[in-house]
Amino acid sequence: MRQPLVAGNWKMNGSKADAADLVNGIKAGAGNIRKAEVALCPPFPYLPIVENLLAGSSIRWGSQDVSSETDGAFTGQVSARMIHEFGCTYAIIGHSERRMFNAESDATIAKKYQQALAVGLTPILCVGESLEEREHGKTEEVVARHLDAVLEGIGAEAIGSGVIAYEPVWAIGTGVTATPEQAQEVHAFLRQRIAAKSQAHADAVRILYGGSMKPGNAMELIGQGDIDGGLIGGAALKASDFLAICAAA
Ligand code: PEP
Repeated sequence: MRQPLVAGNWKMNGSKADAADLVNGIKAGAGNIRKAEVALCPPFPYLPIVENLLAGSSIRWGSQDVSSETDGAFTGQVSARMIHEFGCTYAIIGHSERRMFNAESDATIAKKYQQALAVGLTPILCVGESLEEREHGKTEEVVARHLDAVLEGIGAEAIGSGVIAYEPVWAIGTGVTATPEQAQEVHAFLRQRIAAKSQAHADAVRILYGGSMKPGNAMELIGQGDIDGGLIGGAALKASDFLAICAAA
């Protein structure tokens, strides 16, 4: 059985005080979470706050990105090793906002994935199609390309050591959620593609759904056979909403 994972992606939101309030609010309500593993991914500068507040709790934390490079003259970048020093378990890799606004290619994303694995972080690889790609019947082609950057580029074991997040770009921050059937179809496709290389890794890997997941739709989405939790954006910024999703998982 795959343990569901609910990870909050705070993106570039909040202040030091907001970060502390949010963590404390989530900690205070975490007693109602029965099954899911929970992780919080704050902006880089708030990692020490989150680390201090969560030390000793069962809630994990992670970063929203890592550098594709190990160290050196890369102004403004943050290495996987540095992130690991702050007690992170996870690192989100290849979020569609980074693909879009930072022109991250599949090759760069594969390097980042490898950097995360090399220091013992668990990468959360984001894959997903745009609305235009879906309307042109290209969903499977696009998510296969995103997946293959790691599956073919690094190997099935690397995929088995990480987490995948299917995040249709048209559902992120839009309030439009993929239906449970639409999401399940893509999740099953991704798992079958991994199974063609390794059934064991396909069975073990958690595939999260992300895109306007809320307390009201979480249970139905996560109830699908191949949906193993959620990557949550907007609803992760309100402790009560995030906790409700965690409890539903
Ligand atoms: C995300 O950006 O990872 C995300 C899922 O955002 P939202 O929940 O706001 O759609």
